[in-house]
Amino acid sequence: MILDKKTVIDIQKADTSKISKIDFNNLSFGNVFTDHMLECDYKDGQWQTIKIRPYGPISLDPSAKVFHYGQAIFEGMKAYKDTQDDVWLFRPDENQKRLNKSAERLAIPEFPEALFFDGLETLLNIEKNWIQKEEGSSLYIRPFVIATESGVSANPAKEYKFMIILSPAQSYYSGEVRVLFADKFSRSASGGVGFAKCAGNYAGQFYPTKLANDAGYQQVVWTDASTHENLEEAGTMNVFFRIGDKLITAPTSDRILDGVTRKSILTLAEDEGIEYEVRTISVFEIEEAAKNGTLLEMFGAGTAAVVNPILGFSFKGNDYELPKTENSYATHFKNRITSIQTKKAEDKFGWTYKVRD
Ligand SMILES: *Cc1c(COP(=O)(O)O)cnc(C)c1O
Repeated sequence: MILDKKTVIDIQKADTSKISKIDFNNLSFGNVFTDHMLECDYKDGQWQTIKIRPYGPISLDPSAKVFHYGQAIFEGMKAYKDTQDDVWLFRPDENQKRLNKSAERLAIPEFPEALFFDGLETLLNIEKNWIQKEEGSSLYIRPFVIATESGVSANPAKEYKFMIILSPAQSYYSGEVRVLFADKFSRSASGGVGFAKCAGNYAGQFYPTKLANDAGYQQVVWTDASTHENLEEAGTMNVFFRIGDKLITAPTSDRILDGVTRKSILTLAEDEGIEYEVRTISVFEIEEAAKNGTLLEMFGAGTAAVVNPILGFSFKGNDYELPKTENSYATHFKNRITSIQTKKAEDKFGWTYKVRD
């Protein structure tokens, strides 16, 4: 991934910065954006010059296909600053490749690797002041692509817009999480788009998740669409179970998003000699383990929170509460990954990437 940063980028700086008005100690996730954004349009069969502009609204024709047929994909990643003020990304090649996997599935043209990195790094250098050094601080990066071509005929657009927006983030505590194992609704089906980071996967979850919220559960853990008996993922996070000292997670498939955090946890488990299994996990096995006290932990894994402990679950009207576990794997993996990301711990897997000046 050594690029020579040859990409021409058209930069227009904002007249003033809003950074002095931001209370970095009281940020809610994803609501504040930095002074600039990156845009790159696709037309006439190619990606045009990358532009960096002051952050603000964009104008689209009301018939733009993204509004009608949902051709929209995104990524989520984070930048961190070390004690020397260098800026680091965590496994950004994984996000770049995944964006293009999602693109292919949604019939969106791929976004070239060189443009992705040259554009992102130029934007990060301009917004460097927005990356705080305090423990737990990061800059959340949201690259996305939308179909901008006008016309409501139902076929893939010929015009798109790739954008990157940036949002300062603090370490993310989502409160106590109890989950509902889905027994009726589904997030994805075999042959569908579950593995892609596409907007529609989220829209389809909002209603069942709202019903779960109303019933007192913060999230839904999705089960396979055909039997609702095998646990898949949480819809914004992959899910891990700890039975005894063994860590278990479902295999990725075309129904499950291949998370970078999930992958990193499995590599660390292997490295540390923590026993783990990647296999189908039946709801009944987890209910049984909860009943006999061997289910010690459940947690979600994803870029925003890194690791998010789950305190209990419900399936078909039966509620289960997990015990308080000493030497929690959730805490351990969260600390280990965060200290690698922020350059406080050795990065023996070469996961961190230094943003070029
Ligand atoms: C983004 C996402 C995840 C987590 O992936 P990371 O690469 O670890 O951030 C898990 N599931 C879904 C559905 C997602 O969209």
